[in-house]
Amino acid sequence: MTVSSPTDFASLPLSPATLANLVTLGYQQMTPIQAASLPAALLGKDIIAQAKTGSGKTAAFALTLLANLNPRRFAVQSLVLCPTRELADQVTLEVRRLARADDNIKVVTLCGGVPLRGQLATLEHGAHIVVGTPGRVMDHLERQSLQLDAMNTLVLDEADRMLDMGFFDDIVKVARQCPKERQTLLFSATYPEGIAKLAAQFMREPLTVTVEAQH
Ligand code: ADP
Ligand code: MG
Repeated sequence: MTVSSPTDFASLPLSPATLANLVTLGYQQMTPIQAASLPAALLGKDIIAQAKTGSGKTAAFALTLLANLNPRRFAVQSLVLCPTRELADQVTLEVRRLARADDNIKVVTLCGGVPLRGQLATLEHGAHIVVGTPGRVMDHLERQSLQLDAMNTLVLDEADRMLDMGFFDDIVKVARQCPKERQTLLFSATYPEGIAKLAAQFMREPLTVTVEAQH
């Protein structure tokens, strides 16, 4: 008999294919923030997770949104908001790595500073997951080039940086356009005052998990 420790990915309700993929990627044990957030996140709870940069926050929300996703339904089911294009590209790569190869999950990035035309054409072809910056995602919602009626998971990544960049109002506006029945996950490296204020606008009884930096 194998005894699974609380940091084994196998202790989570993930599909055998996902667990096999994690082994292939060399992810042997959950990082502390993953172990603190994934059990509740995979039960559908709203989470505010704080841990320093490099602690594996992306996989914590990526595994959750992928678990909530139906690959056979070709509609946007997850929306990840990031502060910058560079970070949105990194998140997109990690989500693609964690997605089961045979599910053909389509991830689209929508960031400012990139011509709209190409994004409009891409969106016409559909997507399962959108990763983008708040201002540009709001633009697409206003143009109705992005529909969120099938979405079930909203992620705010690097929420502290998004607040520093003045995205508070755009984030609130985007969240208001998402279906009420959804899971919201907020990830941040620090916990400034604005985070609780932001969460209070649209999160439902969030569980707050913090992993303190080791000295
Ligand atoms: P953060 O968003 O907290 O700054 P990332 O999600 O970018 O951190 O993760 C940092 C690095 O750790 C990435 O290269 C990622 O692939 C790797 N990583 C994440 N989770 C694990 C894990 N459980 N085991 C091994 N490596 C991991
Ligand atoms: Mg990150």
